[in-house]
Amino acid sequence: MEQISFLPTFERWQAAARRALQNAIEPGQIVWEEIGEDQPALYLFEEADPASTPPSKFRVPKRFLALAKLVSLHREAGRWPLLYRLLWRLTHGETHLLEIAVDSDVAQAGDFEKSVRQDIHKMRAFVRFREVEHGGEKWFVAWFEPQHHIVEQNAPFFADRFASMRWSILTPDRCAHWNGKTLSFTAGVPRSDAPGADQMEELWRTYYANIFNPARVKVHAMQAEMPKKYWRNLPEATLIPSLLHEAPRRVEMMMEKSAAKKAAMDGEWYPAPVPETSSLTTVRGASRGCTACPLYKNATQTVFGEGPKRATLMLLGEQPGDQEDLSGKPFIGPAGKLLDRALEEAGIDRADVYVTNTVKHFKWEPRGKRRIHQKPSSRDIAACRPWFEAELRIVRPSVLVCLGSTAAQALFGPSFRVTRERGRVLESALAPRVVTTVHPSSLLRQPDEESRAREYALFVQDLGVALRAANEK
Ligand code: SF4
Repeated sequence: MEQISFLPTFERWQAAARRALQNAIEPGQIVWEEIGEDQPALYLFEEADPASTPPSKFRVPKRFLALAKLVSLHREAGRWPLLYRLLWRLTHGETHLLEIAVDSDVAQAGDFEKSVRQDIHKMRAFVRFREVEHGGEKWFVAWFEPQHHIVEQNAPFFADRFASMRWSILTPDRCAHWNGKTLSFTAGVPRSDAPGADQMEELWRTYYANIFNPARVKVHAMQAEMPKKYWRNLPEATLIPSLLHEAPRRVEMMMEKSAAKKAAMDGEWYPAPVPETSSLTTVRGASRGCTACPLYKNATQTVFGEGPKRATLMLLGEQPGDQEDLSGKPFIGPAGKLLDRALEEAGIDRADVYVTNTVKHFKWEPRGKRRIHQKPSSRDIAACRPWFEAELRIVRPSVLVCLGSTAAQALFGPSFRVTRERGRVLESALAPRVVTTVHPSSLLRQPDEESRAREYALFVQDLGVALRAANEK
C-alpha cells in the first residue's frame, strides 16, 4: 500500500492524484491521509505541490472537475478515495462513466455534491452579522456552523454582497475576514468567541416579521428549509411560534385587502391561498374572500362545505347552484332535496354527513331573467382545489363520495368515467376510500318517470355502498 499525506484541499489532492495516475497506482493501493497545516507532509512523491506538478497527459470531462471541486468540500474522509476511483475509471476506458447515474461511485459523488451545495445555500441564507467595536472601528461578526468545509469557497459571495462592511464569519473549522479590500482566513474558533445579541437583532426581527407570508406558510417545508439547528443563531427564530399562531387571522386580513385589487385582474387563475390550519372555521372564513379565479365576480358569495368536523362520510358535488349561491349553503336546491331523500332511503342521516363542492362559487350565464348553470372549466377547478383538499385534510372522512363527473375527475383525472366505475369502492391519494356516483341533478334531467325511478334506485344503491364502506372502519 502507498500512503499519501496531504493538506485536504482540492488543489493538493489534484496534484497528488495526477502523480499517482502517472505512476499507474491503482485506487485500491492508496491510503489518503489528511494532515493539518502545521504537520509535515509525508508525500509519496518527491514533490506534490500543485505549482511543480507537470501537466497531466490524462484528459477528464469538465463536469468531473466541477464535481470534484464540490465533493472535495464534503466532510466525509471517504471523498478522497472516491474521487480517485472516479478519476482512475474515467482515464481507464470508462470515459462516459459520469453519465451512468446508477453507478455506485457516481451516485455517491452526486450525493456528496448535493449535500455540499445545500450547505453553501444554508450558509448564505442563515449567516447573521452582529456589530462589534474592533480597534476603534465598526466590525460585523457572525457565527455559523457549517456541515462541510465550505467557508473559503463561500467567502467571496459575502465579500461581494457586503463589500462596504468590514466583517468576519467565525466557524469551528475556519474563519473568513473581509477588511473592505481583501479576504483572509484563519483557523476555526469556539462559539464562545462569537459576540452575543445586539441592536441588529431587532432589525432582523422586524425584517422577518415583514416578509413572513402567512398564506404560504407550510410548517414542514419551513423546517426542512430552515432546520431547527440553525434557529439558535437566528434572531428572528424567536418570532416563529407567535407568527405561526397568528397566521390564519393574518391570511383573512390579507385576502380582504387583496380582493379589490385582484377583482380588476380579468382572466387570472391561481391556486386558492388556503391557510395551513386544522380549524375548519378559519379555512371557511378565509374562503369568503377568495378571488383565485374569476367566478367570484358574478356570484353572490362563497358556498363552503357544511357538516360535522368528524363526519365519516363526505359528499363532494360540482358547484353551488342558484339557490345555494343566494343562501350560502350547499345542496339546498332541488338537487339537494333529492339528495336528502336518497340519503334517508340509504339509511344515512344528512346531519352526520359533510357536504361540499369541488368549486365554491356559482358559475352561470344569463338567459332571460334566469341564471343558467355553466360547467366549471379545468382552470376554475384547479384554482379552487386547495379548498376541498383542506376540507378533506381537516375532516378526514373514511369515505368520500364523488357526486358526478366533475368531482370524480378532480380526484381521478379527466379520463375517469363515472358510468363505468360508479358504486365501486376505490382508493385515492386524497381519501382512503372513494365511491363515485352520478350527481343528483342528473336524476332531475331524466326524460321520463321510468328512467328517473331506475336512476334514482341506482343512486340510492351507490350511497348504500358508501355507507357500508364507512361502517367497515
Ligand atoms: S371558485 Fe373557488 S377559486 Fe374561484 S374564486 Fe371561488 S373559491 Fe376562489
